[in-house]
Amino acid sequence: MIDRGTLDCPVDDECASCSKGGDLAVYEADTVVGVICLTLCERCADRGELPRISVGGGARMVLEHCEHRGVDLDYDVRRREAEEERWR
Ligand SMILES: [Zn+2]
Ligand SMILES: [Zn+2]
Repeated sequence: MIDRGTLDCPVDDECASCSKGGDLAVYEADTVVGVICLTLCERCADRGELPRISVGGGARMVLEHCEHRGVDLDYDVRRREAEEERWR
């Protein structure tokens, strides 16, 4: 699942998935290690194509994206718990 990223996330000069330049934007992706941001071209974003992310590399991206948003690492966990609470 991918969403448009926040304005505070830096846009790379190439797509994280196909390494091409062009119509690039930052997207948020929910991965096994947490929510990350990454730069995708319009084509890859349309297809929901994400690059293969290692757990180590992913964890670093999660941390960086927390910094972009100015939140701590537990933020998404708490938000998820709060959402589950609502449906109970
Ligand atoms: Zn691409
Ligand atoms: Zn970010």
